[in-house]
Amino acid sequence: MTPLATEKTGEGSLIVVKMEDLLNWARLSSLWPMSFGLACCAIEKMATFAPHYDLDRLGIFPRNSPRQADVMIISGTVTFKMADRVRRLYEQMPAPKYVISMGSCANCGGPYWEHGYHVVKGVDRIIPVDVYVAGCPPRPEALIGGFLKLQEKIRQEAATMPKFFI
Ligand code: SF4
Repeated sequence: MTPLATEKTGEGSLIVVKMEDLLNWARLSSLWPMSFGLACCAIEKMATFAPHYDLDRLGIFPRNSPRQADVMIISGTVTFKMADRVRRLYEQMPAPKYVISMGSCANCGGPYWEHGYHVVKGVDRIIPVDVYVAGCPPRPEALIGGFLKLQEKIRQEAATMPKFFI
């Protein structure tokens, strides 16, 4: 966030920023992923949320309800049986919302690409994806890299103003 002006007054300091920058900064500093996993990639995702990687420092807190989450991490194989559920959960999340596709299965069907008649060949066929993380499975560092990419994307977004500001 680049301040337009800073000023010291008798009662403290004043920083002037564009409202869009402020909203984007708030969004990217408080990403709340929904807590659910589909297959083995979810184990790496759980490891990423463990204390060793300390995601709290980036403002990332997993939430159990789609109504309170703004990021969906697709960690695992998306079968046709699960596809409807994944889409319904995505629709229950409030906007603005983001999707990270984690691992080869979610990206393109992974090892099931050729013979997995039951597997969706990429979760982007059912919901829009913002960031793809490669690997089978990706390490926690790779998922954290995905979050940093997502933050970069949000920083450059043209933020829409909430109605109470207009
Ligand atoms: S990408 Fe690999 S590790 Fe991840 S769910 Fe698929 S098979 Fe499992």
